[in-house]
Amino acid sequence: MKVGILGAGQLARMIALAGYPLGLDFIFLDPSVDACANKLGEHLHGDYSDPVLLAELARRADVVTYEFENVPAPVAKFLAEHTRVYPPARALELAQDRWVEKNFFLELGIPTPQFALVDSLEDLEQAMSMLGIPAILKTRTQGYDGKGQSLLKSEADLKPAWVVVQGLPAIVEAFVPFTREVSIIAARSVSGSVVFYPLSENLHKGGILRIAESRANDPMQAQAEDYMSRLLNALDYVGVMALELFEVDGELIANEFAPRVHNSGHWTTEGAETSQFENHLRAILDLPLGATTALGKAAMVNFIGGLPTTKDALAINHAYLHLYGKSPHKGRKVAHATVRTESAEQFGQSVRQLAKLAEQVDDS
Ligand code: AMP
Repeated sequence: MKVGILGAGQLARMIALAGYPLGLDFIFLDPSVDACANKLGEHLHGDYSDPVLLAELARRADVVTYEFENVPAPVAKFLAEHTRVYPPARALELAQDRWVEKNFFLELGIPTPQFALVDSLEDLEQAMSMLGIPAILKTRTQGYDGKGQSLLKSEADLKPAWVVVQGLPAIVEAFVPFTREVSIIAARSVSGSVVFYPLSENLHKGGILRIAESRANDPMQAQAEDYMSRLLNALDYVGVMALELFEVDGELIANEFAPRVHNSGHWTTEGAETSQFENHLRAILDLPLGATTALGKAAMVNFIGGLPTTKDALAINHAYLHLYGKSPHKGRKVAHATVRTESAEQFGQSVRQLAKLAEQVDDS
């Protein structure tokens, strides 16, 4: 069985690593010559919209999936005419545009921060009188890891913020005074079976995820599962999905969803009975989904911009290192490490040590 993946970055690499024990082969389409998954399968090198390469991918793969949500929806639709493509193209369309995505949340009764469409500086000024200060201006498309975003703390910030988004279509949303950020990851198979992972509690800095910790028996689990179920069912979804949420006053508010495996679920590799990567493959191949039970306490720490030495990372008790095979440069996610242990005390100590190591090499 051959799985095609649009994109050959670290997420594709981790999906392939999870697929080898199941006897799966992989073929990637990616424009970058040295894409980091390319040692794990065949690499079709070229543009995502190249019709010749897409036709080859569709012909050679039994099923096609993707590792990022900015795959042009027409590409997914073209592939779907020739082979099975999961998750569905509709999920891509929604996740690519914050305005469309937020309206979809509201249609499903999922709370999201108050927001308004902004196509001009005048729109922004008008929206601010409704939303109040502080607020965040975000481009509708192409934004990730805090890119294309500007925090508005006073009237004086509006004009410069509008320059930052370069006049691109945008939304402005109320700043949520959250007590914490969490995400839920779920998998839904072709035949409609669903599994949910324990919540991840996430720490961001500069809009980029730094640490994600598994939260077994979290009081917000049921509400997160309810919102996730609404999304999965409405989209007749297949594959792994992540939903990022803010917690305020014991209620969850949806920030965004990702129709793919997610950085906040990397702890599942060592910290859950079945990893998100394996369950993504099981879901799209309509295999029985694996148990998502957390194994002790687990967390993941990202290395951004720089790498620790393998020796330093592995010297930390219960730490597992995942190098992506990418050369470090500013702002680039190049590795992560997970910690898994039964001991709460040891867990805290190891996470702190890893976070310190990540800070020392950080170049974000
Ligand atoms: P995003 O790219 O929308 O996921 O935003 C990146 C990070 O910015 C989030 O994980 C939050 O830490 C922060 N953020 C985004 N939107 C809001 C908001 N409306 N209120 C407070 N913080 C936010």
